[in-house]
Amino acid sequence: MPRYGMVIDITKCNGCHNCFLACRDEHCGNDFLPYSASQPNTGHFWMRITEKERGKYPKVKVAYTPVPCMHCEDALCLKAARDGAIYKRPDGIVIIDPKKSEGQKRLVSTCPYRVIYWNEEKQIPQKCTFCAHLLDKGWKEPRCAEVCPTGALAFGDLDNPNSEAAKRMASGKSEVLHPEYGMREKVSYIGIPKRFIAGAVVFGDTDACGEGAKVMLEGDGEKREVKADNYGDFEFEGLSADKTYTVRVEQAGYKAHKTEAKTKVDVYLGDMVLAKAKPASAKKK
Ligand code: SF4
Ligand code: SF4
Repeated sequence: MPRYGMVIDITKCNGCHNCFLACRDEHCGNDFLPYSASQPNTGHFWMRITEKERGKYPKVKVAYTPVPCMHCEDALCLKAARDGAIYKRPDGIVIIDPKKSEGQKRLVSTCPYRVIYWNEEKQIPQKCTFCAHLLDKGWKEPRCAEVCPTGALAFGDLDNPNSEAAKRMASGKSEVLHPEYGMREKVSYIGIPKRFIAGAVVFGDTDACGEGAKVMLEGDGEKREVKADNYGDFEFEGLSADKTYTVRVEQAGYKAHKTEAKTKVDVYLGDMVLAKAKPASAKKK
């Protein structure tokens, strides 16, 4: 028996909303009983794309995070449901029964991820089913994962080491959005936006971009090193929040430049101008 889950690579998501639209196309106006009743035309986001603007001018980045139901092993919604209104299938998919859940509006607020929506017309709570009706017909993935043009959504059997989802998990880079909820979510993420420190290196004597300069970062128990690109730009991603880091820039023939940055927010250091070092012979005089 598979144990279905999804590993979403946020760094690959461009916010195109194809997954959201495919979900609409599949479920709006279509009943798939006993899996799900039709989704209303407005107001539901069974695959919701959140948008987060990071940094500030001139270094602004946007991260898109697709948020479906997490199909949790220890689902709070399931614990709160009455009369078997929510159940977990042997393959791990959490389903809201469209008949048994009738009238249980309070279930909407039992999910801390806020992915349960109330259908006013039908008087039922609804959410993503991982397109269980299709999987039971032999489909390998839900509609959202099928249409994603960038491969951001990897769906599959988390216990099958050959599935892309399991491979992403094995990379050790995936994590759940809210571990503090303690629900053992089966949807996890790569590249959850954290903090970045960025800047630009400039060679002071020529005012040229500091291409190739060595930029070193140290703090919060880690050390990293990158080379400034052909615009002199550099960036360190995935840093911890509220920590102090030291950034040091070195280039042969120039004096090193060192500064400190606190990651209360994303940080743009601006231009780090390297002054020309005095030649050794000049120093002796
Ligand atoms: S994400 Fe929310 S709705 Fe989905 S299984 Fe977990 S608690 Fe239930
Ligand atoms: S289809 Fe893929 S790239 Fe487009 S919003 Fe959804 S997850 Fe992101």
